[in-house]
Amino acid sequence: MSDTVFGKIIRREIPADIVYEDDAVLAFKDINPQAPVHVLVIPKEPIPKLDEAAQKHQQLLGHLLLTAKEVAAKMELERGYRLVINNGDEGGQTVYHLHVHILGGRPMTWPPG
Ligand code: AMP
Repeated sequence: MSDTVFGKIIRREIPADIVYEDDAVLAFKDINPQAPVHVLVIPKEPIPKLDEAAQKHQQLLGHLLLTAKEVAAKMELERGYRLVINNGDEGGQTVYHLHVHILGGRPMTWPPG
């Protein structure tokens, strides 16, 4: 079973600035923010990356996205925000525990880097 820094945050072995939690997901501020608001939403189940999500995760993935929307509202991002899922090395993923980035508080540019 692979463990990551996010597993340690879930188990409260290392601190995080948690903004939302329920039985299935956790949301906390990114330690290296790329925007005025930068929050990560993760499932408590340690799915390493989106590519490894399966049909049985359908409800959990929906919950992850709806939680991201709720957290964005809580962070007062009514002017807009961006959700990002980095998948795999070339996708820019560095922590192999599935997570959704919520980025907001400034205008986003396109294409992303
Ligand atoms: P990714 O590159 O998509 O895998 O994103 C991983 C994110 O996790 C990066 O934005 C990191 O800044 C963030 N991160 C790494 N360690 C921590 C931590 N201990 N607490 C909060 N965010 C973290």
